[in-house]
Amino acid sequence: MTLPVADNWFEAKKIDADTTLIIEPHIHVLEQANMFLVEGSERDMILDTGMGVIPFKPYLNTLRKDPGKEIICVSSHTHIDHIGAVHEFDIRLVHPAEADEMANPSGLNSLFRRDMPEALLATFQASGYPPIGETLIEALPFEGYDPESYRLVGAPATGLLNHGDTVDLGNHLYEVLHLPGHSPGGIGLFERATGTLFAADAIYDGPLIYEGPGMSVADYRKTFDLLKAMPVTIVHGGHDPSFDRGRMLEIIAHYEPLWEAV
Ligand SMILES: [Zn+2]
Ligand SMILES: [Zn+2]
Repeated sequence: MTLPVADNWFEAKKIDADTTLIIEPHIHVLEQANMFLVEGSERDMILDTGMGVIPFKPYLNTLRKDPGKEIICVSSHTHIDHIGAVHEFDIRLVHPAEADEMANPSGLNSLFRRDMPEALLATFQASGYPPIGETLIEALPFEGYDPESYRLVGAPATGLLNHGDTVDLGNHLYEVLHLPGHSPGGIGLFERATGTLFAADAIYDGPLIYEGPGMSVADYRKTFDLLKAMPVTIVHGGHDPSFDRGRMLEIIAHYEPLWEAV
């Protein structure tokens, strides 16, 4: 296997005055999660931390106006593509239903297709994702990187986020929404003042994954009922580009009938 060497492992794009989207463009689209940095007046927040192929925090700090400011790391849930660098942060928050998993990850822990359960691969393919090559990375982060050396390193939570809790950055106040279905402790962050929802993997503009360990269509239906009832105007999902309320309702309307018989 010969992979090219990436020029930049991470890619960042400012999406509003205080918010920056970060991705790992050389990860297969299936596990290429969105990370969001929000720079607040009192403290910063990083929502999700990618795969953890190489250290993330040094790169993140190059994006911050004040890298010395306190930063809260929120894990939306504990799939491999969202908690890779959680261990690099001092303040680590997650929903209680996935706190054990964050401390000791038990799921996928490899960059190789051969280590992915067949049922999982079948789910991804059926959902509409392109096939995966030998590895989940399509370039090396640096010359000589050995993909076999990859390990997902968890970290215990330093605090828990339940539905109704808030994450206060000073000029941004986020309400925690428990959004199970894709995972038992999936959470979103909702800023009521602007209608902004960070929805993570509960809803994004790509194939949703709802069949697998820890997933529940019954929970997912309730999650969608909650989202429909919230005054959401813009959604930043865990994957794929952001979208507005109209598109959110379209996505929900696509999945709900599929789940009626389940
Ligand atoms: Zn994801
Ligand atoms: Zn996920």
